[in-house]
Amino acid sequence: MTGLLSELKRFERIDLSRVACHGTACCTAVRHRVFGRLMQYANMGAALAAVPELIRWGPVRWPAHWCDLPEGDGLTGDCGVHADVAAAVLTREAVPHTRGRAVLRPAPLAPAHWRASWTEAGAGDAWIAGRVVHHEVIKVGDQWWDPSEARWFSGAGAHLSGGRVLAVREEHGSWQLDSEASATHARP
Ligand SMILES: [Zn+2]
Ligand SMILES: [Zn+2]
Repeated sequence: MTGLLSELKRFERIDLSRVACHGTACCTAVRHRVFGRLMQYANMGAALAAVPELIRWGPVRWPAHWCDLPEGDGLTGDCGVHADVAAAVLTREAVPHTRGRAVLRPAPLAPAHWRASWTEAGAGDAWIAGRVVHHEVIKVGDQWWDPSEARWFSGAGAHLSGGRVLAVREEHGSWQLDSEASATHARP
């Protein structure tokens, strides 16, 4: 698992995503469209769950602005966009939370497939390593929220449909490894 530790070091250098605003109608119109829709939900859980329905998962070129998200008649964004929008919902509802990252081990063929789509879109693929990927998540209390799958998980060791969670790290925190991954690492 020494490979994992070097991937963690590399992933740490990826900035957590913040969608920028040009301060003009191009961006404010999209922002109103997003939050106008999300604020129609009676409860916060439903609003959080609606984020990846409203913004289809797909490649984005960073640094991204709100006006980069419309694609066809919908919106497209990656987990960084989902995390930024979900965090804004939590902030509006005054729910304490921290942004963070997770390292997932997806199905073996997924990374190559994702790299091809991200490259085709001209988006960066720094989030994809050989066997593992970087994914943006949010910590709320002692639970983690996956803003793209719209589900809670317990942290390192959990299984998401994107893959097994090998490690999690709160912004400004330190990595928490899956005990199975660290046990493997400890062996000579
Ligand atoms: Zn704009
Ligand atoms: Zn992701």
